[in-house]
Amino acid sequence: MSPNDPLRTNFDVVVVGAGFAGCYMLHRLRGMGQTVRVFEIGTGVGGTWYWNRYPGARCDIESMEYSYQFSEELQQEWAWSERYASQPEILDYLNHVADRFDLRSDIQFETRVTKARYDEATSRWTLDIESDTHASTEVTAQFYIMATGCLSSTNMPDFPGLDDFEGDWFHTGRWPHAGVDFAGKRVGVIGTGSSAIQSIPLIAEEAEHLTVFQRTPNFSVPAHNAPIDQALQARVKADYRGFRARNSAMPFGAFADVEGREESALNATEAELEKHYDYWWQRGGLIFLASYGDLMFEEKSNATARKYAGQKILDLVDDPEVAALLTPDQVFGCKRLCADSGYFETFNRPNVELVDVKKAPIEAITPNGLRTADAEYELDVIVFATGYDAMTGALLGVDIRGRNGQSLVDKWHAGPRTYLGLGTAGFPNLFTITGPGSPSVLANMVPAIEQHVNWIADCIEHLRSTGLREIEVTLDAEDAWVEHVNDVANMTLFPGCNSWYLGANIAGKPRVFMPYIGFPTYVAKCEEVVAKNYEGFALS
Ligand SMILES: Cc1cc2nc3c(=O)[nH]c(=O)nc-3n(C[C@H](O)[C@H](O)[C@H](O)COP(=O)(O)OP(=O)(O)OC[C@H]3O[C@@H](n4cnc5c(N)ncnc54)[C@H](O)[C@@H]3O)c2cc1C
Repeated sequence: MSPNDPLRTNFDVVVVGAGFAGCYMLHRLRGMGQTVRVFEIGTGVGGTWYWNRYPGARCDIESMEYSYQFSEELQQEWAWSERYASQPEILDYLNHVADRFDLRSDIQFETRVTKARYDEATSRWTLDIESDTHASTEVTAQFYIMATGCLSSTNMPDFPGLDDFEGDWFHTGRWPHAGVDFAGKRVGVIGTGSSAIQSIPLIAEEAEHLTVFQRTPNFSVPAHNAPIDQALQARVKADYRGFRARNSAMPFGAFADVEGREESALNATEAELEKHYDYWWQRGGLIFLASYGDLMFEEKSNATARKYAGQKILDLVDDPEVAALLTPDQVFGCKRLCADSGYFETFNRPNVELVDVKKAPIEAITPNGLRTADAEYELDVIVFATGYDAMTGALLGVDIRGRNGQSLVDKWHAGPRTYLGLGTAGFPNLFTITGPGSPSVLANMVPAIEQHVNWIADCIEHLRSTGLREIEVTLDAEDAWVEHVNDVANMTLFPGCNSWYLGANIAGKPRVFMPYIGFPTYVAKCEEVVAKNYEGFALS
């Protein structure tokens, strides 16, 4: 049977998810001569960029950085049109990658992996799959790779009454392919995180009336998106390799070209601070967080950025009461910083209203709209911009059983435990791409994904070439890594607020800081592990 015969059920490797991670993983494994099948719930490739079709969706790491580097030809031939590529453009890019590297024949779309169990006798995984379009219900593989994404399991709040709502409702992360017509509609947006901040200005332009239901305000810096600077594009392409290497050496795997990042905000006078922040505000984008070297380490430094960004909100929003409500009181950047295009200004529009649902929480969705503790709102459309069960949601969405039938849900009941975010003890031959405990969401994710894919592919190659069948994280290495991830996080200000990095957006989710902070240190550690013959893993 040929490797990509649709009826085939036994593989060397199965990969779950066809976003940036799954697509590149497939390409690498194929190049090694492995038989591979990728399973994906969606009807196409793209992952995040397949699902998030809401108005205004775009990356907030600059396009030249937020892209694959594994193929010099690819990065030379692709031309980005905007500083921050829009969702349709990123999806086009991923479709181009799928065509260029002929990936689709090994991807089974419209298929959900529901269960996975490890057979210790054969060192193989068996996966249960559900699909309306394919006959197989079970496949087996020696290696099982979760490329299911950190932000793919949507968080839908459990408000009573949604089933009886007579209007339309949508989650930003499951946006209809045909788009949504807001013209003449009374629209409610629930949430004020990144997706809300991107979509609200555009929805407000179209809707008759927009009510934004805010629990916690977020800091946002202007994106200053624009057509891509052609001279910059040419400069980067002249030495893309060097550009990537400089970025990889940065703590977030991005923002290499920031001057003055070593300095402390505390050494600056008021006038210098103002001038410095004006420059970075004007430059635009998440790079603002790196404008001083100690913003995420020193509370007093951070307070200078917080004060500056707070003043900007006051300057941008006409009504001081609305401005106050939009001003966060948490550490600047400890919830994911957002980059916007006219977000705060949108609240000056006569058709936009801001509602504080921390003070008067949403009690129920009603047939005609929504009820908070102190008012009723009539709505034709509700947009849930309520984010994700980040980092663990998609992993725990599959009933994964490792050695002795132990379930991953049970193992992680007090929070995720991994070694390097690549694997977890008791679950041999299972790899997680950008799993908890790796830089993942606190890095430019495409290079972080490529680094994981390369590590996993090289590891599988090593096992094959040495005639080994099984690799498993040791408990000692895992315990030490979990402690280290926490220690590093606790040296920063990141754990200091109720962010999704900590799982705080999901009721009942254990509070554990999940990403590893420091991309270059992490990469060096992964390389050292290999150099020491996979230190921290048991190979057999
Ligand atoms: C709106 C938005 C903007 C973002 N912008 C940036 C940015 O600017 N910079 C940045 O670095 N990161 C950004 N991210 C993070 C983004 O998720 C990553 O950059 C990247 O796209 C993740 O790729 P992935 O392949 O790991 O996961 P995903 O793209 O999430 O793909 C995972 C896929 O797995 C599939 N899947 C999950 N479970 C199953 C299952 N059980 N069975 C079958 N299939 C399954 C899903 O359907 C999905 O298609 C953004 C995220 C969002 C939501």
